[in-house]
Amino acid sequence: MAYKFIDNYREKGARKKLVKHLESRGIQDKRVLEAIGKVPRHFFFDETFWNQAYKDIAFPIGDGQTISQPYTVAYQSELLHVKKGDKVLEIGTGSGYQTCILLELGADVYTIERQENLYQRTIQVLPYMGYKPNFFLGDGSKGIPENAPYDKIIVTAGAPFVPEVMLKQLKLGGLLVIPVGDEKSQKMVTILRVAENDFERIELDTFRFVPLVGDKAW
Ligand code: SAM
Repeated sequence: MAYKFIDNYREKGARKKLVKHLESRGIQDKRVLEAIGKVPRHFFFDETFWNQAYKDIAFPIGDGQTISQPYTVAYQSELLHVKKGDKVLEIGTGSGYQTCILLELGADVYTIERQENLYQRTIQVLPYMGYKPNFFLGDGSKGIPENAPYDKIIVTAGAPFVPEVMLKQLKLGGLLVIPVGDEKSQKMVTILRVAENDFERIELDTFRFVPLVGDKAW
């Protein structure tokens, strides 16, 4: 497969404007904004749609899925408080854009996607761009117990409830960021593991994600 990866002044300029826009929407974490400013989001689009890549919108990536809206990616990334070297499990690789942001933040990323076409695309595109997470194909609603525990877990699809298996895969002091709700809207939820059997849950803003489909989900 031949990829066309050109990052010219038009795309660089549009990316700078996107960063300003996200700041104006309330994203404050400078490291997150820097990461958004670095990752060429248009590489995840067909060239015909490059003019859409730096709009603050979700966009179809095939197989009924979407690349998340930049604001949503920035919002979840900010909540995650990624530190350099954090072991982060991402459930729902999708296009791989959020994966690249996590890598720019210095995380050691484990990312899982259930749709084979998307998985096959990301295992080629991301390393080509210089990004090297640990890729997995399968049902992430069960987490990835073999590689647990994780410092952070981020779910990029809407769950009907918080799967308990995910909580068990957090380190003590570890954090889960997951959208929870019905098919139409979900609240962003953060869950901090404060002790072996003690979790602090906070509910935040409302979003609309594609569904988390699997054994411990829809
Ligand atoms: N952050 C990604 C991006 O920017 O491209 C978001 C991708 S999309 C909103 C959510 C992804 O979760 C989809 O690719 C979907 O196939 C995947 N997904 C849904 N249920 C899943 C599951 N149980 N395990 C792994 N991936 C899942």
